[in-house]
Amino acid sequence: MRFHALSSDRVVVTNLVGEHVVLPRAELDEVVTGGRPAPATITAMRARQMIRAPEDTLPLELLAMKLRTQKRRLAELTSLHMFVVTLRCEHTCRYCQVSRQATGRGEFDMTQETAEAALGHVFASPSQQLKIEFQGGESLLNFDLIKWVVLRAEQLNHDEQRDLAFVIATNLALVDDEMLDFCAEHQIVLSTSLDGPADLHNHNRRRPGQDSWQRAVEGIRRVTARLGPDYVSALMTTTEESLDQPEAIINSYAELGLTGIFLRPISPYGFALRLRGGGRYDTQRWLEFYRRGLAHIIELNRAGTPMTEIYAAIIAKKMFTNDDPGYVDLTSPAGIGIGGIVYNYDGGIYACDEGRMLAETGDQTFRLGTVHDSWADIMGSHKLLDPLWESFTLSVPGCDQCAFEPWCGADPTFHHATQNDFAGHKALSAFCARNTGIFTYLVELADSDSFVKDLLYSWAHR
Ligand code: SF4
Repeated sequence: MRFHALSSDRVVVTNLVGEHVVLPRAELDEVVTGGRPAPATITAMRARQMIRAPEDTLPLELLAMKLRTQKRRLAELTSLHMFVVTLRCEHTCRYCQVSRQATGRGEFDMTQETAEAALGHVFASPSQQLKIEFQGGESLLNFDLIKWVVLRAEQLNHDEQRDLAFVIATNLALVDDEMLDFCAEHQIVLSTSLDGPADLHNHNRRRPGQDSWQRAVEGIRRVTARLGPDYVSALMTTTEESLDQPEAIINSYAELGLTGIFLRPISPYGFALRLRGGGRYDTQRWLEFYRRGLAHIIELNRAGTPMTEIYAAIIAKKMFTNDDPGYVDLTSPAGIGIGGIVYNYDGGIYACDEGRMLAETGDQTFRLGTVHDSWADIMGSHKLLDPLWESFTLSVPGCDQCAFEPWCGADPTFHHATQNDFAGHKALSAFCARNTGIFTYLVELADSDSFVKDLLYSWAHR
């Protein structure tokens, strides 16, 4: 067992697979010094295989079985395949992480030949679940290729019989009825960006006419009307200007009928580094923003308005179930390459989208090869295996002793970008500080407020 002190005199104790109990500190002292803990403490800790009688081997077998169940997805690599169909974009967002190109520059579009080779990789991966996500630039600027890939993938899947799904990441400014008809016919989900109220969104996400927010909102309404609410989701990015208005951002989602929001910090990759403060505002300020936002979401739910904070829901699944939600930033081994992989417009293959963004600034660390290399060569390359094994949390100093290790993950791209090291020094890691802050906050909330505990539990079991 591993433990972490909370702000009161209580501690959270976890086992190898993330099951947990919260105890008074004195009670844990009784356990570890061989004293006289309460019978209820012994029952709770034995049920989670945190303690056992010396002759009792069953708890070890049970724990091993839980760990095997949790890690079974590792045999199912790779389920998420991201196609960068173009670098062209009609937006000039302040935090853009790729080298967007002007809309007239067709040489920055993926070709059918490249897409065909990339599809060879998609179907070479052993995963039964295959999700193809189209990205840009603005992906709808190359909608003809999206249509071609969808039809070709469905044709290939006629023999393969995988569980095939499609997502288009788009700012929705250019969506039209013909595109929506195609999405409806092929059950394609649209994922868009919405940073909050109009003034904040349009300040961050600039386009001719300053109408990005109006077009995104109109697009969300059109997708909802044509395909249904389950076929559109929105993501926000937190900028300096967002930090003092989490409530307004969340309310803008609720007003649109959206029932989930992912409170995301800005990432220190690619061209986002040009933002003030290198794009890396103080982690404590972001945590304050997150706590205020989550408190507001809890109050909305208490008042009867359903709203989920998606990062908290992912963590709740780890806290309260033995299921791994498979979120690529919170897995160990890391999700790069084996959880998701990126095919760039020019045929380059990257271990993750952040790796592609780093490449835009000249750092090719996460470029694994091209679509013309074999799947086995890509998956077996040291450029992928080195960051995977070097960042494996059970053997990384700091993480190996951390009570939150089963809920956390390895992020070799973040630590390479910020510390030039795949594992990273956790005392200096903004990733670690952010997650420690959120894990601690969620445990304390659930420990002190039964409504919040039930809410997190319901998010975990959705
Ligand atoms: S990154 Fe930090 S919070 Fe996550 S497991 Fe490692 S030490 Fe714990």
